[in-house]
Amino acid sequence: MEYQFNNCAELLALCKKHKQPISQIAIRREMEFFKKKKTWVRNKMKGVRDTMWEAIKKGLENPHKSKYGLTGGDAKKIHAGLGKMDKMFHSKVAVRAMAYAVATNEQNARMGRIVAFPTAGGSGTIPGVLFSCAQHMKSSKRKMLNALFTAAAIGIAVIKHGGTFSAARAGCQAEVGLATAMAAAGLTEMRGGTPEQCLNAAALALKNLLGLACDPLGGLVEVPCVKRNAFGATHAITASDLSMLDVKSLVPMDEVVEAMMAIAERMNEGIRETALGGLAITATGLKVREKMGLKPVPKKYLKWKKGKLI
Ligand code: SF4
Repeated sequence: MEYQFNNCAELLALCKKHKQPISQIAIRREMEFFKKKKTWVRNKMKGVRDTMWEAIKKGLENPHKSKYGLTGGDAKKIHAGLGKMDKMFHSKVAVRAMAYAVATNEQNARMGRIVAFPTAGGSGTIPGVLFSCAQHMKSSKRKMLNALFTAAAIGIAVIKHGGTFSAARAGCQAEVGLATAMAAAGLTEMRGGTPEQCLNAAALALKNLLGLACDPLGGLVEVPCVKRNAFGATHAITASDLSMLDVKSLVPMDEVVEAMMAIAERMNEGIRETALGGLAITATGLKVREKMGLKPVPKKYLKWKKGKLI
């Protein structure tokens, strides 16, 4: 098998060998893996792209809160920021990326249809960044599609290298953290960056989100998840900008993934999708839990209230 890779270093070696960007290696990999024609592979990704866009549009239009009322309506507010850019410090492209990211995650919280790319909790970051930047750069649909393939290739390399997207195993660094890294790489290719720059952007993005706890209130993928994707989106843009300015990550992406997994080993289970730590056991988090009729949090997880860290 010519186009399979087991980590980012091998992905980069394939790009160099075939003188192709990451997206094209990713497409070849899928063709080889599924024994399908290029059109089939591209059509699959077109379906992903179109579903992402539908989720954004619906998320921006929908004024309703989620079932427990924790989230909903913020995408609209952020999108309105585009009409008052004189009051914003971020660029238009970043504000729109935040709006799109939140729109997607609000849809997810309302049980609407989204693409879990790479996960439901981290579903807003990649479409937020890529659609907003594609609009800004007036990129062709093909470029947008290629950016998605590049993002996907990073995800595959991470998993092949022993990483995970599971928050139950590695916390939010593995959800929004990796989504941010994938978005940064996709955006970097979309704006003409080399494969090295794409991988460098991914490493820069993930490095800064290492250790991120998964601590959703009431175990719902809403708080902090929805707004965390807005931060993921701006973070990915920052990483891509830095990479395009030739700022290098001293630690390469494969090693950052190894660091992520080493941190995961040390994470208390309370901050690994159990809703028994972090924000989930703040006074507000406990109220949400009560309102939902969930069992009280066992005392051992509340030791911090006596000044001890769990
Ligand atoms: S906090 Fe947990 S549930 Fe929420 S997005 Fe992060 S990993 Fe997913």
